[in-house]
Formats: sequence, structure tokens, C-alpha cells
Amino acid sequence: VQDGELAERLRQRGYRMTAQRQLVLDAVRRLDHAGPDDILADVSRREQGVNLSTIYRTLEVLEEIGLVAHTHLGHGSPAYHSTALPAHLHLVCRRCDRVTEAPTELAAGFVATLAAEHGFETDVRHLTVFGDCENCKEDR
Ligand SMILES: [Zn+2]
Ligand SMILES: [Zn+2]
Ligand SMILES: [Zn+2]
Repeated sequence: VQDGELAERLRQRGYRMTAQRQLVLDAVRRLDHAGPDDILADVSRREQGVNLSTIYRTLEVLEEIGLVAHTHLGHGSPAYHSTALPAHLHLVCRRCDRVTEAPTELAAGFVATLAAEHGFETDVRHLTVFGDCENCKEDR
């Protein structure tokens, strides 16, 4: 299915609309917090001859035109989201790797202080907090 928004945004930035870019965007939208490897696996089921560096480059383009955003849920590769989803913070448990989504409003005070005292504009979608989740905390 061709996506008018994708085609339009690509065109505005001087990029070509390609089936591959559509497939990568579809994969990001379908998979939750997918990394480039998962996205490659998904796209490869639909089109042959795609490699990881193509996936990385395509994700960069999609991020540049504002249709996807990434965060890091571990020490490895980035995890991608559609920007059509509501922004949220990620709470990642270091023990069980559970990812909990929390409203960005929780960081409002922190974000406001960084802006006021450092003139710093926070990319809230990129924010991931590591710690021990409720279950793992109790186990200790
Ligand atoms: Zn997320
Ligand atoms: Zn990053
Ligand atoms: Zn845990």
C-alpha cells in the first residue's frame, strides 16, 4: 500500500519514493521498538536483496523527514518508532529487560529545568531510563 504522506515528505526533501522506503516504514509501524535487524528480517520477507546498510540508510532518511524516531533500549542498536504514535518515555529494567512506556509529562519538570538553566532542548522521544522494574526490585 502506497502512503501519500511518505511520498509527499520524500518529495519535499528531494528524495525519491521507492518501494523499499515504503517497506521499511511499514515494518517500523508494524513492529514495536524494532531494531535494524528485525526491520531487515521483516523487509526481507517481502523483497529480496535488501541488506543491513540499506536499512540503516533508509531509517536515517525516514527519521530526517520526521516519520520515524529512535531511542536505545540497551547498549546495542537503536529501536525505532513511528512518529504517528504518541511520544512516551521508556523505562528499561536492567535485570529482565522489560520495557515499560510512561507518559512524557513525567519528565516535564526535568525538561523545563534543562531548558531554563542550560538552554537545552530535550528530545523526549529519545529518553530512556534504566533501572530495576517493580518485579525485579521485589526479588532482591
Ligand atoms: Zn517506545
Ligand atoms: Zn540515539
Ligand atoms: Zn525487571
